[in-house]
Formats: sequence, structure tokens, C-alpha cells
Amino acid sequence: MPVYLDHAATTPISAQALAALTRELSRCGNPSSLHGSGRRARRVVEEAREVIAAAVGAHPSEVVFTSGGTEADNLAVKGLYWSRRNEDQRRRKIICSPVEHHAVLDTVEWLQRHDGAEVCWLPVDDYGVVSVDAVRAEIASDPGAVALVTVMWANNEVGSVQPVAEIARLANEYGIPMHSDAVQAFGSLPLSFAGSGLATMAISGHKIGGPVGVGALLVGRAVKLTPVLHGGGQEREIRSGTLDTPSIAALAAAAEAAVGHLPEEGPRLARLREKLIAGVVGAVPEAVLRGTPDPELAGLRLPGNAHFTFPGCEGDSLLFLLDLAGIESSTGSACTAGVPRPSHVLLAMGLTEEQARGAQRFSLGHTSTESDVEALVAALPEAYARARKAGMAGHASSIRTAGTQHL
Ligand code: PLP
Repeated sequence: MPVYLDHAATTPISAQALAALTRELSRCGNPSSLHGSGRRARRVVEEAREVIAAAVGAHPSEVVFTSGGTEADNLAVKGLYWSRRNEDQRRRKIICSPVEHHAVLDTVEWLQRHDGAEVCWLPVDDYGVVSVDAVRAEIASDPGAVALVTVMWANNEVGSVQPVAEIARLANEYGIPMHSDAVQAFGSLPLSFAGSGLATMAISGHKIGGPVGVGALLVGRAVKLTPVLHGGGQEREIRSGTLDTPSIAALAAAAEAAVGHLPEEGPRLARLREKLIAGVVGAVPEAVLRGTPDPELAGLRLPGNAHFTFPGCEGDSLLFLLDLAGIESSTGSACTAGVPRPSHVLLAMGLTEEQARGAQRFSLGHTSTESDVEALVAALPEAYARARKAGMAGHASSIRTAGTQHL
């Protein structure tokens, strides 16, 4: 069995979610149908909505089911932009962090290219954390021009947690809605939608032990969103499409389990992460930890995230050499059609392209153990030495299969 250190990409389904999924897959009924089977399916969906609302600190009516995090982010960013601009044509500015996942980043850039949006990219510090002062200055310079603010809760590559509640408070002073992509944070950090002051917040099933292809957008009750998908209007007329009862039931089971275990699981993973960081730096002293350090386990970094750059090698060479040694990790960023691109997150943090190329993310989750960390630490020195020898020029194109990852 390989050592799986890529829980941020997707984590194994939990026993509770698997049980709910298989139970519901063997049943039939469209939750919008009026007969007994339909009403039974509707009950399952509405019970799941209540469980998810409780897990995320929201009212059940604020849970809008989607096909995952990407759809939730698209719906929030496009939906807020269109609705705010339609109310007032001057509102075209999107204030956005430059370290967002592509689900937000590419949506914002699409609106810029095709729909008249003007984008303000916020500065971030060396750890990738957004400056609250910069948000304040940007809003104050022309509040009437701002359509929305979007800053993720925690970064999927380097694990840094953002000052989301502080920024939301600021935006709220001006009546400006804020979206946050909480796909990596939900289930890993304590969070409350009601307490955050956000207008919208995205979560996803497969990052928390639920199935792939289901998620939700939390939408405040007074928030107006223009739909992206048109059809039956199943979810508050905000999102159309027949509800996926089995996946929704499994999402609720996964959310309940993840949030229920968080008080013990969060500190356990954070301690394991610190052991991993110490082990990696001990085995390869050249390795540089990226993202906010959190040695006191103060919640400044995702508990399961350890991200490094390894000088003098390509991240994907190291990935494939570790894979050969039975360790599954990630470069953490996008590479398309076999061409490795330096991470936009690391570049925004001020790294050079060369520094950014040696990136490797190790992410822990509910199945991770001390022996996983020990196996990584044992395999790393040789993999690093070989990756370095392969050098920056001869990256892993010879041993990789072309693909795309946006995790
Ligand atoms: N946002 C973040 C921060 C993510 O890490 C991911 C998944 O990689 C997504 C959004 C997309 O979620 P999904 O895979 O459910 O579409």
C-alpha cells in the first residue's frame, strides 16, 4: 500500500459517508416528485440540509447544494457580480486575493475578459496572507465601484489561513458582499458561516470524507445571486438540476463526522504535521517550509498541510521519484499537458520562478499515521538527491504521464 500524503487533493471516503451513499444509491425517488418515493427522497435531502447547516454554523435555508467546490465558487463569484452590477452599473470591481484556487481565479479572470469586470489583486505577505489594510484602502478609495470581495478561508497549496472575518467585517461596513472559498478549511478548522459575516461560502464533499461531485454554497438569506445554471430552479431558484440524494446524504454524513471529530482530529493532525516538518527539514536541511508557520498549533495553518520548496530540483521530478518509493505527494499547483508551470501562489508570495519550481506539498488526513511520516522522512533524502541530479532542465517529462492537476 502506498503512503498517501495527498489528502488536500482528495481524502478517502469516511465509513459514515460510504454507508449513507450505498444506502441511498439502492433507493429511487426524485426529491421534487410528489409521490411517496419522492417525498422520502425529499426527507433525506432536507435532513441532510439540517445536518450540514449545523456543521457549518448556518441556517438550513442557507445551504444550496451544488456539484462541488468549483460550481459553488462559480455561482458565488458570477452570481454576486451579475446581481450587484445589474443593480448599479458602476459596480464592476472585484477585490480578489491572488492566491485563490483556479475555481475562483479563473472565474474572476473570465468576468474580466468577457463581462467588463475590473479586478483588484490584493497584495499578500511572504506567507501568502492578504493584507487587511490593503482591502480597507481599496474599498475606501471608491466603495460604490466594488461589486464583491473574494478571499479564500485557507490556501490549498501552502495552507495559510486568511483573516476572513476581519475582511468580511470591513466589507459589511460598506454593504459589500464577500465570498470565501472554504473548501480546504471546512472540516479542518472550526468555522461558522453565521459568525463569519460572509455573504457566500463554498464547501466540497471529497475534501472532508464525502464523495466527489457534491458540495454546497452557503448563501445568506438576504443575499441576491443571479443563477449560473438555468432549469427547474430546485435550490431557491439559485441553482437548477435534480438533487443528487445519495451524494447529499453522504455529504451530510461526512460533514457530521468531520466536524464531530475535529476537536481531537485537528490537534492530532497539527502535531503530526509538526513532526513531518521537523523530519523533512532534518532529512533535507535545504528544504524551505512555505506558508504560515504554526509551531504553537494556533490555527494559523491548515492542520494537515506541510508545503516545501526543495532547491535545485523540479517538483514533479521529486513527486515521481517519491511515487516510485511508494510515497504519494503533490506539487500542489497546476501543470497542464505535461508542462510544469510555477505556482501562481508561490509567485504571489514573492518567490522566483526557480524557487517555485521545487515545490512539494504533503497533506495529512484522517487515515494518516506516524508511520506515514516516518516513511516519507526515510525516502526523502535519496529521492531529493536523484531529483537534484536530474536538475532543473531535465525535469520528469520522461517518466511522467501528461495530465492536468488543479487541486
Ligand atoms: N477550492 C479549493 C481551495 C480547492 O482546494 C478545490 C479542490 O481542489 C476546489 C475549490 C474545487 O473543489 P471541487 O474539486 O469540489 O470542484
